[in-house]
Amino acid sequence: MDEFKEKRERLIERLRHELELSDKVVEAMKKVPRHLFIPPAYRSEAYVDTPLPIGKGQTISAPHMVAIMCELLDLKKGDKVLEVGAGCGYHAAVVAEIVGREGKVIAIERIPELAETAKRNLEALGYDNVKVVVGDGSKGYEKEAPYDKIYVTASAPKIPEPLIEQLKVGGKLVIPVGDFTQHLYVVEKDEKGKIKKENWGAVRFVPLVGEHGFED
Ligand code: SAM
Repeated sequence: MDEFKEKRERLIERLRHELELSDKVVEAMKKVPRHLFIPPAYRSEAYVDTPLPIGKGQTISAPHMVAIMCELLDLKKGDKVLEVGAGCGYHAAVVAEIVGREGKVIAIERIPELAETAKRNLEALGYDNVKVVVGDGSKGYEKEAPYDKIYVTASAPKIPEPLIEQLKVGGKLVIPVGDFTQHLYVVEKDEKGKIKKENWGAVRFVPLVGEHGFED
């Protein structure tokens, strides 16, 4: 077994016990080589449970946060998912493993250079069920809506209305909200279009910048 794979398996097994992860999230995270989404200078830290710089002042999310968000979304095979904040593409790859080839992930990123990196990383690993687009994801991505699941990897001032609109009935949205103090919310939409909101707890994310986010 190569050195990276061994470290990855050790980290994911530790997270499985600490966070009581489901087998599907564990298997997906064991398959995705996080070190290949990280700039070479930080590669040796790829399997430490921490966010790391990916350029342009942005970060790759910590593995425990990727795992928690995947669990909260209750991802299923065949789900159509919108990710707001593609970064380097790592989280999208984990979600793509879970939804499988019958599912689809649309990953939107506002910084064109990062979107290009995400696209390159995902293509190199053969993730043809992920489409990376450049744009302001605080407005969602109308062209492919509605979505079974939506998750946001940057913190919003409040839950953007277009994301609720673009969610299917019975769908789930996971989003950090807040500025200095941030909380992760799980939002569910019922048959009447009514919203149920649950606060999972305190988190730390980079800001969501855009029309329904913070100012640049
Ligand atoms: N998903 C990434 C991963 O795989 O680890 C982590 C992404 S990073 C924590 C958050 C990303 O959100 C940054 O790349 C940032 O540029 C992006 N972002 C911020 N505001 C955005 C917006 N309005 N639309 C799309 N992306 C946005």
